[in-house]
Amino acid sequence: MKQVMDEIRQRIHHAAVASGRPPEAVRLVAVTKTVGADRVADAVSQGVDMVGESYIQEAREKFDALQGLPVSWHFIGHLQSNKAKYAVRMFDLIHSVDSFKLARELSREAEKYSKIQDILIQVNISQEETKSGIKENAVLDLISDISALSHVRVMGLMTIPPFFDEPEKSRPVFRHLAKLKDQIMEKGISGVHLTELSMGMTGDFEVAVSEGATLVRIGTALFGTRQ
Ligand SMILES: *Cc1c(COP(=O)(O)O)cnc(C)c1O
Repeated sequence: MKQVMDEIRQRIHHAAVASGRPPEAVRLVAVTKTVGADRVADAVSQGVDMVGESYIQEAREKFDALQGLPVSWHFIGHLQSNKAKYAVRMFDLIHSVDSFKLARELSREAEKYSKIQDILIQVNISQEETKSGIKENAVLDLISDISALSHVRVMGLMTIPPFFDEPEKSRPVFRHLAKLKDQIMEKGISGVHLTELSMGMTGDFEVAVSEGATLVRIGTALFGTRQ
């Protein structure tokens, strides 16, 4: 694990430096879906400080088993509004908000815990029918609607490109997301300050880093192929 971790960190570091970005501007979210609690604990002992989970039930089991571990929990999967209460209890950042209804539920639940829930908006840049994420032309309205909610805070944008056999093919998608973030910032919506771009996975994280990713979500390269 240590060697693999070091190698991934180095690749992130190199990709940042090569594109003129400070390496500390890019943080690794270790994607631990399907990975058992003991391996998650091992990864944390090797310096992983953010883990990403995709399924609420699976995350709850690990979250309970790993109470007190110095790690921040992120949710990266599709979240149903009726699971908002579990999500708010566990996650420091939810990457995958794509509707006002979900944001409103999160805000309502967060209020009960006197928490401000940090979220990202998942954008479907490539407009594949099957992918979750909001269409690009609806993002601005969604963010301004959400900005009126008292207990959620939009921190940035997230996207998942279609599966490509070649990492460079993801580049236009990543570039597009970065540009969209800038365009939204230019609108100067009160209380909205987007700092995060969650993009890049095992197959294309270096390309994402060179296009401005601040959070890369890496599973397979760290933990091996999932069942
Ligand atoms: C599973 C998953 C990842 C990690 O993908 P790898 O290719 O294993 O690195 C990243 N982001 C999301 C949203 C995922 O569901």
